[in-house]
Amino acid sequence: MKVSLASALGTCFGVKDAINLAMDPQFKSELTIVGQLVHNRQVNESLKKNGVALVNDIDDIDSIKTKKVMITAHGAAEKIKEKLRDAGFIVYDASCPLVMRVHKTIKALVEKKYFPVVIGQKDHVEVKGIVGDLEEYVVINDENDLEKLRAVKKRKFGIVSQTTQQPERVESLVKKIMEMDCVDEVNFINTICQPTRDRQIAVRELADLVDLMIVIGGYNSSNTKKLVQVCEEKKIESHHIESTSQLNREWFVNKKHVGITAGTSTPEYVINDVHKEILKIAEELKVPEEQVV
Ligand code: SF4
Repeated sequence: MKVSLASALGTCFGVKDAINLAMDPQFKSELTIVGQLVHNRQVNESLKKNGVALVNDIDDIDSIKTKKVMITAHGAAEKIKEKLRDAGFIVYDASCPLVMRVHKTIKALVEKKYFPVVIGQKDHVEVKGIVGDLEEYVVINDENDLEKLRAVKKRKFGIVSQTTQQPERVESLVKKIMEMDCVDEVNFINTICQPTRDRQIAVRELADLVDLMIVIGGYNSSNTKKLVQVCEEKKIESHHIESTSQLNREWFVNKKHVGITAGTSTPEYVINDVHKEILKIAEELKVPEEQVV
């Protein structure tokens, strides 16, 4: 059984920078992160071990015990940061620059009189941050949401996407919007981030070569779920795991080539552990040469 890693996988620079900032010794026991810094259980556990406190979101402001607070890599609306400052907190901002680019892009579209539209998941923290300072907007997750555009009674739409969306899905939705009879003009700026694209291209290429894909990442990680979706589209057996302990030896029986990929919030040591364990399974499943006829 051959085992291959995707050519691009695991932690992106945005997540790495955010974790490094949160782990800075200057903060020890004096920092609260507002929201999950990244959607990865192991990372959040090691932050807690380091004395960093976590609260789910701004609604938990009353339970924050530290003076210093941190905004996550997913970004937040300016008014949330203001609310924290007004409450007397020192705000450290770990927002990924590529998320901030989406905030700037949508504001620029609004200034040019386009009605703002975000393609993404409306309850995702990144999307909440993108639309949080806008007076009006529409979030489109799939075709069922398209009629929302008719309801706003505007004809010029400025569209951006959540950074972790699948490019093909976004392009197909934009095309459908352009074809709607209630739409005169669309200004679409593709804001899917490069690390997400790289991982999706790499998983697509690898999916053509393997008969099983192991996808590593948090169950609540949007971009990890998109990697699983790519495997499903390619009709490749895939299993989404968070850690080595979830590997099932049965998955590997009679497999010739196994691929490994991981979302942008999956730490390198988790990928290495899973890789090592799969190589071990491959060794155990090896058919002794004298049995090969
Ligand atoms: S997935 Fe993209 S946007 Fe999100 S933190 Fe990583 S680089 Fe930034």
